[in-house]
Amino acid sequence: MIALKKYIIPVSLLLIILFWLVRWQPDRHDVHTTTQLAMGTLVSLSVWGTKPENEEKVFAAVFEKIRQLEAVASRQDVNSIVYRINHAPSGEKFTIPSELTHIVAKGLQVHLLSGGAFDPGLAHISDLWGFTQGVPEVEKIPEKRLIDAWLEKRKQCFDYGIHLKLPDNDSDGPGLLWLADDSFALDLGAIAKGYILDQAMAVLKREGIINALIVGGGDMIIAGAKGDQPWRIGIQHPRDRDKVMASVEVLQDMALATSGDYERFFMADGQRQHHILDPKTGHPARSGLISVSIQAREAMIADALSTAVFVLGMEKGKALIERLEGVEGMLVQENGERWKSSRFPGQWLEE
Ligand code: AMP
Ligand code: MG
Repeated sequence: MIALKKYIIPVSLLLIILFWLVRWQPDRHDVHTTTQLAMGTLVSLSVWGTKPENEEKVFAAVFEKIRQLEAVASRQDVNSIVYRINHAPSGEKFTIPSELTHIVAKGLQVHLLSGGAFDPGLAHISDLWGFTQGVPEVEKIPEKRLIDAWLEKRKQCFDYGIHLKLPDNDSDGPGLLWLADDSFALDLGAIAKGYILDQAMAVLKREGIINALIVGGGDMIIAGAKGDQPWRIGIQHPRDRDKVMASVEVLQDMALATSGDYERFFMADGQRQHHILDPKTGHPARSGLISVSIQAREAMIADALSTAVFVLGMEKGKALIERLEGVEGMLVQENGERWKSSRFPGQWLEE
């Protein structure tokens, strides 16, 4: 049941998206889709205008890439470098592969941009809440003393405890990483999926495919269009999983990520205890926002920023989106208030 439960929301999200793709797609025989379980969710790959005989090989190469990168960035996989880093004594230095260097470097940038709301080093607090992957097996608020102990340790740290030395000259090479204090452990759950989708799209492009859509949970990367038709995407209503809240029409390469408190949660103490955590409180973020969609050029940036803005809340979130070039957003609050930036490519579907 628990295993099933953790896929219900990704499955429903995916069904909504596929429903939209099919419903609005007059030339649907030209869209070919394949779906597999990867990165703890359903990953669906759709291409338009390709020859079916080539597709099988290309689809296999894309999923191979996804699994290869997942094995690098996962903190659950005991063979991953991230697992080893998280379980080593603090201060131990690791030479890390270029892919991980890239993810952590961007994660640290978004950490700074968001004033700490985005925290790629909060694995211990994610573990306390049980949001390791899926919904926790024991749906219980962690003991206050454990959260307080973590917050106290963090307070004692002079600076942020993830240290990354980038490679000299070659920005694409391996980096050197160490964790300066044991209150830090890598949790790349809000950024790695985006990076992996970017790389999956790069595989397709290398194979000459220019019209494609890859969806993984709340993240997606889109390329091209469907002939003269746009890709049409539905964004799920945060309080009614059968309802589409907004539609987005895409005619050019872009990425879109949505973070919401409805994705993974349990109810306790009369509150929704969800997986997006506020590093300042050690509790699920209660910024007033319940759904944040971010459009950016790269899925990695959209992924990280949707989580960051969720934690920041409406006012600070808006300010961050408006400050960043090439980034647009659509935000919904619990009290019904909603906002989208002037160039966000989507439309609300109802009042
Ligand atoms: P997303 O669904 O993209 O918003 O990412 C949520 C996931 O990111 C969680 O399951 C955690 O693994 C991780 N996470 C939770 N809170 C934060 C945060 N404040 N900063 C960075 N990562 C977080
Ligand atoms: Mg995210």
